[in-house]
Amino acid sequence: MIDFELEPQVVKRAELYHAVALNMMRSIARKYDEEEHTQPWDFFEAMWAASRQEAGAQPDSAERQGARAGGRSVETAVLVEEMCWGDAGLFLTIPGPGLGGAAVRAAGTPAQQERFLARFKGERPVWGAMAITEPGCGSDSAAVTTSAVRQGDYWVLNGTKIFCTAGQLAAEKSDGLVVVWATLDRSLGRAGIRPFVVERGTPGMSVVRVENKLGIRASDTAAIVFEDCRVPLDHLLGDPELKRSAGFKEVMATFDATRPIVAAMAIGVGRAALDFVREFLAAHGAPIRYGLPASRQTALEAEVVEMEVQLKAARLLTWRAAWMFDRGMRNNLEASMAKAKAGRVVTRITQKAVELLGPLGYSRELLVEKWMRDAKINDIFEGTQQINMLIVARRVLGYSSAELS
Ligand SMILES: Cc1cc2nc3c(=O)[nH]c(=O)nc-3n(C[C@H](O)[C@H](O)[C@H](O)COP(=O)(O)OP(=O)(O)OC[C@H]3O[C@@H](n4cnc5c(N)ncnc54)[C@H](O)[C@@H]3O)c2cc1C
Repeated sequence: MIDFELEPQVVKRAELYHAVALNMMRSIARKYDEEEHTQPWDFFEAMWAASRQEAGAQPDSAERQGARAGGRSVETAVLVEEMCWGDAGLFLTIPGPGLGGAAVRAAGTPAQQERFLARFKGERPVWGAMAITEPGCGSDSAAVTTSAVRQGDYWVLNGTKIFCTAGQLAAEKSDGLVVVWATLDRSLGRAGIRPFVVERGTPGMSVVRVENKLGIRASDTAAIVFEDCRVPLDHLLGDPELKRSAGFKEVMATFDATRPIVAAMAIGVGRAALDFVREFLAAHGAPIRYGLPASRQTALEAEVVEMEVQLKAARLLTWRAAWMFDRGMRNNLEASMAKAKAGRVVTRITQKAVELLGPLGYSRELLVEKWMRDAKINDIFEGTQQINMLIVARRVLGYSSAELS
């Protein structure tokens, strides 16, 4: 049975994270939106120190995202929602294993997980990143062209990766790592693709650009070039044997962990906008009167209530996907449903919020216009809106990816 009653300690942690979101993130959100490539090191240091303290009190807490059975993805979703209520861009800059860590957990052997994740327990802030997207490959991740060729005791990587979240922080600004998807043999298609860990400072890896973006501007999004970049053989995550389909499946399993968390990010941004609208209307003499029949609601009340319904539906889908993941259940359908729904809902809610507030909503005086810009990324990364809908359609209708693409 699914029980979404949150444990008291989760509620307590959510309150704590809410206070962080309110006091530490909201207060600097505008600054780091305006100053896109400036990095908030005070914030990094404070968040790192807090996570070290928490890890001491609750071993492994910093590493939970992506843990399989017995994991705490529902709790992570609750906490991520709180932080993204504070600021989604800043949330993406918080030091930690991130998407790179999720890939290590999804595809790495126990020994590799221990070894590569050890760096996230140190004194200094560290970031992990994951690089899949290339100039000619995004939605169709099987079209990766970055190559990995074995030369003696090394893999030699060559290729260009773009739009890598926290790529600069992981590859240049900390003792971090980037998990790079590369193909061992393009003729094998998906089956030839494997994830490789490239540590900061590895010769041949260089950050060549950091993007200027519409939203989540506090977060660095890097283009990284790999030029004869040599990594030891055991930096290939998981089984190096080319078993058809198995390798790619392991890699795709990363998304089963991360899509519910990205959906929770979206929900946090949507809730920020909705809370603001509700409070604004109440302060201006138009509080939302709950419990009225539809025929007696004002048009404004009907809009806000509909926004709330949609946000709650997205949250329930998200928690279900995370709950299944924690129990080791196959959740790729539910993870895509949550991600697609949350992306659509947050985009709509934040646009409506700008609209309902009129010129004030459009002004940079408030964060509402920023939330609208931040929201849109949820329809793009970790599988676009269309790709997640495609996955849902395939699973519901029983088609393979070759049959429905
Ligand atoms: C801010 C930001 C951060 C990112 N972070 C990362 C990261 O950390 N690591 C990483 O590897 N990548 C990252 N990405 C890249 C992101 O995952 C890709 O942009 C995304 O997967 C889309 O791929 P694409 O850019 O090649 O677009 P395309 O695949 O070319 O898609 C363009 C459009 O076509 C649609 N489309 C494509 N195929 C189909 C289809 N079969 N059916 C219907 N519609 C389709 C898409 O939905 C989209 O609307 C990030 C992107 C951004 C903007």
